[in-house]
Amino acid sequence: MSKSRNANTLAKKLVRRTPLKQATASRLAKQVHVYLGSPVVDSPDPRQRRLEAHIAHVLASGFKDRQLNGALLGVREAEPEGQSVKLALESDMADEVLRELLPRFDHFYGGVRGVAGLRVRGNERELNLHDATSSAHVTVTRADGGPIRLPSARDGEVLLWKRVPGGLSRDERQEAEEWTVSRGIEDLRVRDLLLSRILRLPGLANRTAEPHGFANCYTHHAGDLVIEWCCGDTVEALCAVLLAHGFADDVPRAKAIELISRHSAHLGDRTVILNRHGSCLYGRSAEDVVESIKEGYKS
Ligand SMILES: [Zn+2]
Repeated sequence: MSKSRNANTLAKKLVRRTPLKQATASRLAKQVHVYLGSPVVDSPDPRQRRLEAHIAHVLASGFKDRQLNGALLGVREAEPEGQSVKLALESDMADEVLRELLPRFDHFYGGVRGVAGLRVRGNERELNLHDATSSAHVTVTRADGGPIRLPSARDGEVLLWKRVPGGLSRDERQEAEEWTVSRGIEDLRVRDLLLSRILRLPGLANRTAEPHGFANCYTHHAGDLVIEWCCGDTVEALCAVLLAHGFADDVPRAKAIELISRHSAHLGDRTVILNRHGSCLYGRSAEDVVESIKEGYKS
């Protein structure tokens, strides 16, 4: 199909499924300059989506602006595997991804960090991270096929993931339930859907970190994920490729997308917030920032 025909088809779909008006939908549809070959594939299992969303959320809050080699959440590739997903982790970040995800009680923080209820099995080249209370799980490997090191306890930490599967302490169980219930979040289905899609579309999410090797991501609460960047894709261009890959499909039409300004967009009613600075934040100092991020990984 020709490029303009594809753009027309997408524009029509956007008008049908999002609150975008015809002119805006057409403008966005023309900005899709990359296509991964197929739209995002969701897990049919809501508990699986909930776990994947939790993983994306914890990684976003954990890494913030400390990525290496342009891997926003430390993920290079995601491949659907039955109900689950197989993640190839950025090799230089893989150990750190495990450290962020596996739950531990942190006495300095005063609570549980990581994905409460997550447990690990398998071998160092292919780990299965699974939920202790359901069949939800993800498989992780290092993109270069190397071994992933399981984290050791830091000062003040108790490694909860080393407990027997199902052996959740009261703290950990409460924390796990907190994610499942998330009072105050209006639509948990949309949260789980969109955050799991961020995890399943690293080829698109990583575009924000590509120009400098890092971007910024964070969360305000259990219901959102913010991505901030400067160079590379404009907000509209990134929204366009996300929508072309079905990112906002099955989200109530009125909430699918809101273009706030040239520099900001909300997807799924502020579930995913995209902010791009109008000018470069780093310029020539970007390399120094990369060096300091690398130093942080060594310590
Ligand atoms: Zn920049």
